[in-house]
Amino acid sequence: MAESWDVRLHLPSAQALYLHVPFCKRKCAYCDFASWGTPCDDPLMGGYERSLERLVSEARDLGLLDGCKTAYVGGGTPSYLGEGLVSLVSCVKGAAPQIRELTCEANPDSLSDALLSWLVTAGATRVSIGVQSLDDEELAQLGRIHTAAQACKRVAAAVASGLDVSCDLMCAIPLQTRESWEATLEQALSLGVGHVSVYPLVIEDGTALARRVGDSNPAWNDPDVQAERMEQARSIIEKHGLSRYEVASYALPGCQCRHNVAYWTGVPYLGLGTGAASMLSAEGYLRLLEACPHLEALPQGKSRVRLTVTSSPVELADARCLDDLAFDLEFLSEREAAAEDLMLGARLTAGLEPSLVNHARKLIGERLDATLDDLVADGYLDGALRPTKRGWLLGNELYGRLWDLAS
Ligand code: SF4
Repeated sequence: MAESWDVRLHLPSAQALYLHVPFCKRKCAYCDFASWGTPCDDPLMGGYERSLERLVSEARDLGLLDGCKTAYVGGGTPSYLGEGLVSLVSCVKGAAPQIRELTCEANPDSLSDALLSWLVTAGATRVSIGVQSLDDEELAQLGRIHTAAQACKRVAAAVASGLDVSCDLMCAIPLQTRESWEATLEQALSLGVGHVSVYPLVIEDGTALARRVGDSNPAWNDPDVQAERMEQARSIIEKHGLSRYEVASYALPGCQCRHNVAYWTGVPYLGLGTGAASMLSAEGYLRLLEACPHLEALPQGKSRVRLTVTSSPVELADARCLDDLAFDLEFLSEREAAAEDLMLGARLTAGLEPSLVNHARKLIGERLDATLDDLVADGYLDGALRPTKRGWLLGNELYGRLWDLAS
């Protein structure tokens, strides 16, 4: 991103657009995302998708997409929409033709050859496939509905389609061993993907998996196992020529996900759909207020607004315009925004940009340098303010100490 931090803070248009599709064929055992198991012929999906198109068009008319460079259709399972996803991609490209990276999330069971080819024609540039594991027994434990063979076939087809392809993989899962994790990584990388995201499984309260494990603290999910698997992944993935650029993300040169990088580098983004989050500048929020008079006025002294859509999928499908949506709002001062940017920037291999540190110093003063010195002394950051291995593994401590600078 070329703009200085002071400029980014005041950009009146979103630079990235996120659309959330909350439908899945079946809920996975570990999932606490905003997603619902939905029959494939449920008319709600079509109504929801058409409503998203209306909202995107309205955002364009407000000028909220004027500077938009990337778009990401996530879920849920966007590929489950089938032709509806193609229509959504066409709508986004029509509303913001300057977009250069447009990603769709997909699951192997709903990513057909026809859908891949339609997505390419409609203007998608990238597909991110939820593979998680290439071991059938592990997949069954996670409650995933695809098999390893199906995943390999669909990833290979996506690579052959010419789209940039990313794979999501998951470690510290039931039945996984060091050997099976290595086999999953090697096989996924052999398919020619340019991007891989790797996450340790989090056992979230309220999920089927949490009920299954109860209070047992399973050995397969132990924090030491998570750290070991993440380190194993780094070593194998880097041997294939992909470089880590974020705590969980690896890419071949030129294949970084620019949309996700936007989230970590302080530029405004707009999220539409149930559960979708936005981060707007004060100027961008004033544009949204023109269409949403029911929203709270911008409080004095606040320069960033975080919004989360709280409308259910049914309410969203019924929405005629942005003003029909319900949002949770959080207003941040310039200082809070700077602390947030420091925290997010510490996720990146490149570390804290000097222009961000200088911007934050103007707002936070000497306490910033004292905190950064402590984080270097305690081994979370190196002298160039890049996260160390300790910083990666104990990220919550690192991010928490940077966020403390907000107050
Ligand atoms: S496919 Fe993804 S979003 Fe859907 S239930 Fe599974 S983990 Fe959740």
